[in-house]
Amino acid sequence: MIAAMSRSRPSVDRPGSQSALKSANQQRLLNLLLVNGELTQAEIARRSGLAPATVSNIVRELVDHGVLVGTDGTRPRGRVVRLARASGVAVGVDFGYQHITTAVADLSHTILSTRRVVLDVGRDARGAVDCARQLIEEVLEEADTGWDDVVGIGAGLPSPIDSRTRKLGAPSLLPGWEGLDVDEFISHAIGRDVAVENDANLGALAEHVWGAGRGYDNMAYLKLSEGVGAGLVLDGKLFHGGRAGTAGEIGHTTVDEYGAVCRCGNRGCLETLVAARAVVSLLEPVCGAGLTIADIVERAERGDAACRRVLADTGRQTGVALANLCNLLNPERVIIGGELAVAGELLLQPMREIVRRYAIPSAVATLDLVLGSLGPSAPVLGAVALALHGQAQLINS
Ligand SMILES: [Zn+2]
Repeated sequence: MIAAMSRSRPSVDRPGSQSALKSANQQRLLNLLLVNGELTQAEIARRSGLAPATVSNIVRELVDHGVLVGTDGTRPRGRVVRLARASGVAVGVDFGYQHITTAVADLSHTILSTRRVVLDVGRDARGAVDCARQLIEEVLEEADTGWDDVVGIGAGLPSPIDSRTRKLGAPSLLPGWEGLDVDEFISHAIGRDVAVENDANLGALAEHVWGAGRGYDNMAYLKLSEGVGAGLVLDGKLFHGGRAGTAGEIGHTTVDEYGAVCRCGNRGCLETLVAARAVVSLLEPVCGAGLTIADIVERAERGDAACRRVLADTGRQTGVALANLCNLLNPERVIIGGELAVAGELLLQPMREIVRRYAIPSAVATLDLVLGSLGPSAPVLGAVALALHGQAQLINS
């Protein structure tokens, strides 16, 4: 197991001794595989800076110990290596405002099982974490594995998290969680260390590792759901900002100083105009109560003028904020995710028009504004990626 290997690192090795070097090289290789899922031996050599013969030797040894599995080497790419199922699993938990999703993946990044339940997460922190623990038990059982095999757990919350206090950066967004140290609270309830991160950041991480952001070192992920937030990857790393670490709160940029009152306590935030409930409430008077975003998109696709208009306006209003983001950060790719992403081009085309109109030409000359490829699963997959990355850092430290 990875965790066991990390713990059993020989402590008597002097730096520079043969066995210490071997151990450090092994860790570098394991680290790369944790973050990337699977790689060819040539890719491992290139990315780690190790000699191909050294990589070959380490891989052979780790395959013999059952830590890695590899193909026979005759494929066009050469020998592909990944962490064996027996090396453990990683767990992700996505706390939404109204749902919890959990997923378990093996260390080669294959999702083995997922579960989702509807629950008022924002008001009932205790109920939410107890439910999360139960869901983790269920995904582990379905994946035919158990707590002993879990090497890391990541979790996402739909709120900024102050990295100094580990409390919510805007408590009114999740009133039931106010004043809690979220790492400690979730870890205590789950019974294991859990790495906690903002959900839009996790969406960005997942799209960067597995989805539409793969290969883009400067990208933004915009989550348009009950909440609106951005996750930023800059120079290939998740960007948290300054000491508080709450960068990316694009949903709470002021669009109209005297606009509707936002959950954060301010007025006229972007979120008051483009969050899922804002879109639904604009259309309910004409379409009827109990409307969902999926209903609105279906009606729009059938030609309903009001639904088309509201989705286009949502794209335009989001586009203004995105144009500002592009001017400031010049991302190569902006990825749209969250519940509203099902509207596809009905939303994106007007958004693109406005981004091009309001951003300076150089900031958007090579910009792609695209849909996420992981759909609503992006945050929970990001939580799995967080668990894998956390484990890689642990091995690396
Ligand atoms: Zn706000």
